Amino acid sequence: MSNTLLELKNAHTYFQVEKGLLKAVNGVSLTLRKGETVGLVGESGCGKSTLGKTLMRLYKPHSGQVLFKGKDIWTYKRKEKFQYRKEVQMIFQDPYASLDPIGMVGDTIAEGIDIHGLYKGKARTSRILELLKMVGLNEEHINRFPYEFSGGQRQRIGIARALAVEPELIICDEPISALDVSIQAQIVNLLKKLQKEMGLSYLFITHDLSMVRQISDRIAVMYLGSLVELAPSEEIYEKNYHPYTRALLSAIPIADPKVENTRKRILLSGDVPSPINLKEECSFCMRCPNVMEKCRKSRPELKEVSPGHFTACHLYE
Ligand code: SF4
Repeated sequence: MSNTLLELKNAHTYFQVEKGLLKAVNGVSLTLRKGETVGLVGESGCGKSTLGKTLMRLYKPHSGQVLFKGKDIWTYKRKEKFQYRKEVQMIFQDPYASLDPIGMVGDTIAEGIDIHGLYKGKARTSRILELLKMVGLNEEHINRFPYEFSGGQRQRIGIARALAVEPELIICDEPISALDVSIQAQIVNLLKKLQKEMGLSYLFITHDLSMVRQISDRIAVMYLGSLVELAPSEEIYEKNYHPYTRALLSAIPIADPKVENTRKRILLSGDVPSPINLKEECSFCMRCPNVMEKCRKSRPELKEVSPGHFTACHLYE
């Protein structure tokens, strides 16, 4: 039996805007295995959140496929769509904005339980209390409102709400970006613990390459709508190929002040091109220190350069 839970096959998600076609997701292929975490990393505006929403079935890809357990999610009938909404959940960057400000925490957590008719009456209350405990909150929090909580606690509420329907996959869209560093570590540890207990899979979307290392099995680096590197998490920090990945990694501060003083940061020149009406060239060619003639003429494909390690760069063909 296949271990693949979710598969993106050459997915393109475009938007028609005044000046042309905005290619937010431009030919992404990626698999996510059961129980695995893939970290999706890139600068703001690179298309990673659009990719997350494409997986959530909020945006229909212009072309390509999204397969969940082997079936295209855009061929689903009504009942399958309803089931998919239970099995794939999302956690958002701003927990406050994603919670109902006038809804009590218990009812917010139970949204999915009520929609899917999973528990009623006393069983519903017991389930909410169980979820509060699972995410490190207290029983008395059930009747409080979101404004009474800190940012980290609100994110715990968001996680409890996602877990309430017993999903298999959670799309975590910048779930720690709005939190203090110490709280970020707590949320990452909580997600890891829950994954171990429940066998969850995560797509962990972030612009922060340092924290994503703690949770990811593999890391996918995205630039201007496309994946430019994909590798096992530990490997990509030691051995990386794409000039963009190298620049991103060189920006991570090092805790040891002696080593930090010797850190050589790769500063990229040039502007990020507009994702509108992208040309058939390497999308990184305007900023790449290694740019060649060929890079301006054709777009490199994502190719395996060592076992399980892929990059999209003409230097490695
Ligand atoms: Fe740089 Fe060319 Fe590789 Fe693009 S294909 S990253 S421009 S060397």
